[in-house]
Amino acid sequence: MILPGATLGLLGGGQLGRMFTVAARTLGYRVTVVDPDPHAPAAEFATKHLATAYTDPASLDELAATCAAVTTEFENAPAAALDALAHRTVVRPSGASVAIAQDRRREKEFFAANGFPTGPFAFIESSADIDKALAKVKLPALLKTARFGYDGKGQARVNTREELESALGEWKGVPCVLEEFLVLELEISVVLARGADGAVAVFAVAENSHARGILDVTIAPARIPPGLAAQATALATRIAQGLEYVGVLAVEMFIVGGRLLMNEIAPRPHNSGHYTIDACRTSQFEQQVRVLCGLPLGDPSQHTPAVMVNLLGDIWSAGEPRWEAVLGHPGAHLHLYGKREARPGRKMGHVTVCEDPATRAIDVAMDIRTALGIGEGESAPAARSIQRG
Ligand code: AMP
Repeated sequence: MILPGATLGLLGGGQLGRMFTVAARTLGYRVTVVDPDPHAPAAEFATKHLATAYTDPASLDELAATCAAVTTEFENAPAAALDALAHRTVVRPSGASVAIAQDRRREKEFFAANGFPTGPFAFIESSADIDKALAKVKLPALLKTARFGYDGKGQARVNTREELESALGEWKGVPCVLEEFLVLELEISVVLARGADGAVAVFAVAENSHARGILDVTIAPARIPPGLAAQATALATRIAQGLEYVGVLAVEMFIVGGRLLMNEIAPRPHNSGHYTIDACRTSQFEQQVRVLCGLPLGDPSQHTPAVMVNLLGDIWSAGEPRWEAVLGHPGAHLHLYGKREARPGRKMGHVTVCEDPATRAIDVAMDIRTALGIGEGESAPAARSIQRG
């Protein structure tokens, strides 16, 4: 067990790193964060900030020499850096699990090899692979770069063979995955923590809606039949076990025709798990600290229904948003990430509304969205209509 007072290392200093750092400092740990951005959101709370590249040898040396354990907040952290550190200190999750999560091909291979259901997909490296791919995947489809995609980036919808060829031409030589475009009934995610001893603690299944490819609203628990939620929980647990995963893992799934299909995994806390900070007995970030340090896992149970609304940079277009609109609601919790520049589509913060019953949480969250001038994404009407229906 790594006890409070020890220093923990963190690769990546974005908002996930910031919330990890708050949880770690609250439990009495020190945190050294590596992030090239001098204004990295995690740096404000960290004990020390090394503003270098993640692969900088001097920074990795310092982490190895001073940190009792190291973790990461994003899957694009070089798996090689994690592997190099693993020879010298505790690293969770392992570079091997991160390497699978950061490459859509390896992720799909893992799902296929272990019997986890997915929609039809094919790998494409060059136009020579198109015929074979179109034999497996019907159009319309989504072409996704195998690596470095997030929040809908590195994705193109292709309706025809010509569009597929031109999208491939644009990303010349980049390995891609072609996925059949599925008619999604719902998107859900399961966030869990798995300890080095194999103990697993799973948070309530979350229901997610996106706008412009970016998570917009999460409702937890998801409004799905209990049997389906139990299946989602079991699948996510089996994925963590199959990867021999140690850390916090998020599994994104689609519901298509009443069935669960795997979308992707994230080897870290997840935007759809932010509700756990205010609505669960242990947050996903505290869980990350506990797993990293070999402490007993916390109780993941949810005490109040919750709706999380992401705050993107768009709502700063006319200056600072009217936070009274949030703070006036007793069940609303405002989280801002301290980012200096608000750009459209940039995640600046989130609000979690905790209210019982869940329908009230949805109503208050939708009122807050309206008051903050958040554009009617796909999610707002959808959330309301499902509630009424
Ligand atoms: P991803 O980065 O793969 O999670 O994709 C971002 C979002 O695009 C997902 O949350 C879905 O809303 C949508 N999406 C991704 N893959 C598919 C698919 N095969 N069919 C339909 N929608 C998809």
